Amino acid sequence: MTTVAVLGTGTMGAGMARSLLREGFDVRVWNRSVEKAQPLADDGAVVAGTAAEAVAGAEVVVVMLFDVEAVLEVLRGCDGHFARGAVIVQSSTIGPDGTARLATLALDRGWNVLDAPVLGTRAPAEKGLLVVLASGDPDLRPGGQSVFDAIGSRTLWAGEDLGSASALKLACNAWVASLTAAAAQSLALARGAGLDPQLVLDAIKDGPSDSPYLQLKGTAMLAENYEVSFALDGVRKDLDLIAASAGANDVTTDLIDALRAVFGSASRQGHGDQDMASVITAF
Ligand code: NAP
Repeated sequence: MTTVAVLGTGTMGAGMARSLLREGFDVRVWNRSVEKAQPLADDGAVVAGTAAEAVAGAEVVVVMLFDVEAVLEVLRGCDGHFARGAVIVQSSTIGPDGTARLATLALDRGWNVLDAPVLGTRAPAEKGLLVVLASGDPDLRPGGQSVFDAIGSRTLWAGEDLGSASALKLACNAWVASLTAAAAQSLALARGAGLDPQLVLDAIKDGPSDSPYLQLKGTAMLAENYEVSFALDGVRKDLDLIAASAGANDVTTDLIDALRAVFGSASRQGHGDQDMASVITAF
């Protein structure tokens, strides 16, 4: 059975590790704060003391860390410990620029890397229902695909260049951030006008502009339930990546700048560690 190392068992990595365990993979996990990795031992994972220890002997290494600095630092610490032919599946959201930095390092060190960010939050990660956006060398695909099938409901190959999948991921996250902030804005507008904001969700429900996401996040906003699926400061990190990518590609950042303003305002009010639904506090 394939041995997979999962580096980073935060909100997403823990669920991905459990999906791999359910599908019968030998899973080793490592997390900087060991208390987040430890519970996975009950599900059958081997909890490693260091990232280097986790990757030794693993055929596939899934990386699910906060940002590019964490990814590069942790992978540098694993150099010399990767198994021959191991495939690094980089799933953290680090954007095309971050992926280019990783590609340079990988070329230098002889690592095999697939760019494989994911769509979906905590629940799809736990259920193995993520959408995997993948790009990279076609020869590495078979190595990654069995893992993608375990963590995701489908895989979308975005191209052969490392970074293509990360560019697609940013386009999709711009949509998710826009939708969340737009939901917050509409609820705040109704409340500001003295209406019950639930009326907004009811009015839009089942019409052409409804979405499961509007109903989900809108309901969480009205209940002030900010239990983390995707932390607000994670969205801010992604909005910075989106702004950089837009700027580099001559796409206006007007809307992204507005999103950065409202998510930034909610973070300054102390909601950075809470779910992105807490963006409503900015309104
Ligand atoms: P999270 O719960 O905050 O987990 C972040 C992980 O990164 C933790 O394991 C954390 O370790 C680790 N980390 C941070 N800085 C580190 C460093 N300098 N060195 C070593 N480890 C470090 O985040 P998440 O929601 O799982 O997201 C992980 C990645 O997936 C992010 O890039 C995020 O943008 C992306 N993503 C998230 C979602 C979502 O809905 N949550 C969906 C798709 C993609 P500690 O536990 O020690 O802090």
